[in-house]
Order: sequence, then C-alpha cells, then structure tokens
Amino acid sequence: MKYKGQCHCGDIQFEFEDSNLEALQCNCSICIRKNAIMSKSTYSPEQFSLLSGKQNLSTYRWGDKDVNHYFCRSCGIYPFHDTTYEPGTFRVNLGCVENIDSRSLTTLQFDGKNAL
Ligand SMILES: [Zn+2]
Repeated sequence: MKYKGQCHCGDIQFEFEDSNLEALQCNCSICIRKNAIMSKSTYSPEQFSLLSGKQNLSTYRWGDKDVNHYFCRSCGIYPFHDTTYEPGTFRVNLGCVENIDSRSLTTLQFDGKNAL
C-alpha cells in the first residue's frame, strides 16, 4: 500500500510503500525527546520518494554521526531519517503520514538507550 506524508507546514512531502505497516518507538536520547512513532520498516529508494521540499531539509547528526536526522527548516518537524551507511533508505515518522492512526498500530518498543 502506498502512503503519503508531509511535515507540519507542508514544504516536505514524501510517499512510501509498505505492505504491513507497523510502528517502532525508541528510547535513545534523541528519540525520547522527539517522542516520535516511527515506521518499524525502513524503505529502500524503490519504496520511498521525496516529492518536494529537498531544499528546505536540514540535517542533525550527533554521537557517532551515523544517522541523518532530517527536519524542516520552516516548521522543525522531523519527517524521516536515513543513515550514512545506508543513504537513501528511510525510516519514516508515522505522525506525518496521512490517513493512518499512528498510535493504534502494533508498536515495537526498541531499547536504543541500551543498544549501543
Ligand atoms: Zn515544514
């Protein structure tokens, strides 16, 4: 199934395909602050497309700098991230996705705080 998403102001728009949408929440120092409900799956360049807003994306990296935490320069929302070892393969912030209830999906609790 194809899903569409956007940041709060609408500058960043994207779509992706997932046949069994499930969620993931992580408790690492950045995810606990964002409190975002993410996709459990990551999406390859074949499954994910950035439709608009590339010029308005900024990136935050921390720690070992292996994750590109993208955010909208206008509204500050974090729509997705990818990694420096797998660029172009995105995990999506399900709160940005249209026509789903991200809080009612089956959600894996990932212990990122203790995973490193
Ligand atoms: Zn925005």
